[in-house]
Amino acid sequence: MIQAWNRQHGNSSTAIPESHPRTRPPRILPPVLVLNLLIGIFVALLGLAFGSFLNVCIARLPRHESIVHPPSHCPRCGRSIQPRDNIPLLSYALLRGRCRSCGDTISWRYPAVELATALLWLLCFFAFGATPAAVAMAILCFLVLGLAVMDAETMLLPDAFTLPGIFLGILWEAAGTVNGWPDRLHAAGMSLLWAAAAAGLILLIRTVYWLVRRREGMGLGDAKFFAMLAAWLGAADALLILFLAVILGAFYGIVRMRRGRGTAGNIRVPLGAFLGVAAIYAIFAGPQTINWYLKFFP
Ligand SMILES: [Zn+2]
Repeated sequence: MIQAWNRQHGNSSTAIPESHPRTRPPRILPPVLVLNLLIGIFVALLGLAFGSFLNVCIARLPRHESIVHPPSHCPRCGRSIQPRDNIPLLSYALLRGRCRSCGDTISWRYPAVELATALLWLLCFFAFGATPAAVAMAILCFLVLGLAVMDAETMLLPDAFTLPGIFLGILWEAAGTVNGWPDRLHAAGMSLLWAAAAAGLILLIRTVYWLVRRREGMGLGDAKFFAMLAAWLGAADALLILFLAVILGAFYGIVRMRRGRGTAGNIRVPLGAFLGVAAIYAIFAGPQTINWYLKFFP
């Protein structure tokens, strides 16, 4: 059966020596699939663990608190969280979303961020395979998810994520070329240029908005976050992200207004959160979307 499978699929590496053809039971799953399944499980578990760490960053960075000290504790009763209550997803389910000491509800954001990180990391593995690109995009997804949630919760986009994010993006662009140092420097320079142009574009929109409305629309955090995305993904993807984020943000604003949650003058739209959502889309479908769009201009 295996020999027949190998003949059909042209896979010679799994052929069993003729000397003992009947000693092994026939395998049902091809080895490559089993290997991918194992890597997938490992990636998902790693994603859950990093999602748990991301929760700590999300809770502390906007308040300028250390992410290592003090250890995780309940924000209400202050009791430190035991290791058995700190297992991603599982602890939340076992505790039914309540603190073991005081019974206060734990935000659903904790399991949601853990699950989202694991799913995004799995998606990186399935989209880019076991490659450096998958690792790089997993890092980018981690930063983007953290920034989007922080902006949605606090309207803040901490420098602790955006500035290292810009630097890592430039580094990734430089590492992506294979033709030696002149090419690497060129790629790093282009990445830096797109980052600067992206920040400049947001600052320009911000200035125009201020001149017209006499109040702040986009923040400096938005400029740094958008610069980070441009450094990682380049100009075309960055423009796609801004376009999608503005549409999503406008839609959000209209829905809020129709529900009577404010007027056009006082609604605050967390643009960074929508930049994040659009960036996740662009990471996995940006080039395809841009190619589809360019077909309209033959
Ligand atoms: Zn508590």
